[in-house]
Amino acid sequence: MTIYYLEDLETRLQEVNDLNSANAVLSWDQSTYMPPGGAAARGRQMATLSRLAHEKFTDPEVGRLLDQLRPYEESLPYDSDDASLIRVTRREYERSTKIPAEFVAQLNEHQAESYQVWTEARPANDFKRVQPYLEKTLDLSRQLANYFPGYEHIADPLIDFADEGMKVSKVRPLFAELRAQLVPIVQAFTSQPVADDACLKQFYPESQQLDFGLEVIKALGYDFNRGRQDKTHHPFMTKFSLGDVRITTRVQERDLGDALFSTMHEAGHAMYEQGIRLELDGTPLAGGTSSGVHESQSRTWENLVGRSRDFWSFFYPKLQAAFPEQLKAVSLDTFYRAINKVAPSLIRTDADEVTYNLHVMIRFDFEIDLLEGKLAISDLPEAWQARYQSDLGVRAPDDRDGVLQDVHWYAGNIGGSFQGYTLGNLLSAQIFEAAKRDQPGISSEMREGRFALLRDWLTQNIYQHGSKFTANEVIERATGNPLSIGPYIHYLRTKYGELYKLV
Ligand code: ZN
Repeated sequence: MTIYYLEDLETRLQEVNDLNSANAVLSWDQSTYMPPGGAAARGRQMATLSRLAHEKFTDPEVGRLLDQLRPYEESLPYDSDDASLIRVTRREYERSTKIPAEFVAQLNEHQAESYQVWTEARPANDFKRVQPYLEKTLDLSRQLANYFPGYEHIADPLIDFADEGMKVSKVRPLFAELRAQLVPIVQAFTSQPVADDACLKQFYPESQQLDFGLEVIKALGYDFNRGRQDKTHHPFMTKFSLGDVRITTRVQERDLGDALFSTMHEAGHAMYEQGIRLELDGTPLAGGTSSGVHESQSRTWENLVGRSRDFWSFFYPKLQAAFPEQLKAVSLDTFYRAINKVAPSLIRTDADEVTYNLHVMIRFDFEIDLLEGKLAISDLPEAWQARYQSDLGVRAPDDRDGVLQDVHWYAGNIGGSFQGYTLGNLLSAQIFEAAKRDQPGISSEMREGRFALLRDWLTQNIYQHGSKFTANEVIERATGNPLSIGPYIHYLRTKYGELYKLV
């Protein structure tokens, strides 16, 4: 009987996965090639598919199968594929059955519409246009959280969706401790001359930038037989199956760093997904385990690898060959300083490694204030400016580079959208440190333009498992310790201390 129950469950989960993957294709198309006229129908189509997926997944028969499979699950080792599948499916089933299908459809339709309006409002610097959509997003986010009564803080259920096990009372002290460590480092920089990054701001033709980016991520290990890259407004990674994990990018011809580092970032997300064991495909286990662990991998490849001296000692001559006019007179040292310039800035995605987390903390605090009702959406643009002034000492010339800059609130929830970025930064250093402890040859291999030691270690310890283990379990298993800010602070002090002679 057990085999029959398990096969029945797997068939149902595969169908849910097919509906969700079809939805992901529609969403990818919406963000890449769809003409604006397609927006209304696309929103409806995506809402229909998510409703069908939700109905199928929350069918009471799935609950019965999970109950019938409990003795089988308990007879297996915790980390076996079958036990993990049943355990993780049960967790998601219990969560999903709390949310009515009509609400899921309403939320998805609203988010698709809101995203479309944002793609027009941001270039037009028109916050007023998206304001009513954002107000509705806030209402819907509160409603979503309230399907999970018994929380300590209204943001907790939303944070838990992205980073299971995390909540406001855990994130707040962690961020406070990090801030206390970061602020003196940031202040030490403000007393020094800012690095000159003029070499990155020359004219770099789009097609050559794209070519170079592709060469780099191919070397890192992004598999083009199971992926491709297209252009979009706001770069992202998406997956239709383990055989089709796509990334997107955008190019600015007067900023070499923008496309290059965001390409490495998205390739990092994609390599995590491509590294999942193929046997898990089509199940709830075939995806990264949390937004923090996912982000730790994008940041590893973007920053710990992509902004390191080891990496560029190999790739800089290649970059010079691709852009001889722009870079022939620029030394490796000048370039290395330029890509690691530390300065308070307006845009989170362009921020350096030292100030980046201050951007995240601002957004995290706003999500809390909005959900608590302490801050109204109409006051958000001004509150944004005030907070950037006090935390980073900068003021955006307009909302385009202020409150309109990130897609998250315009295409998702308010709540739980940003803490994963900082958790990811912390984890990237902790995981990289563990990898180098086990494989001391990682750095010397990087200087030869090879990344197999690092990639294989990450695949072995993190990628292959998909969602079999929670974030906390993966971190403990891979590094031997729970999440800690120590390795990240050590990494920043070592790298930037050498660059800027910090004490
Ligand atoms: Zn990311």
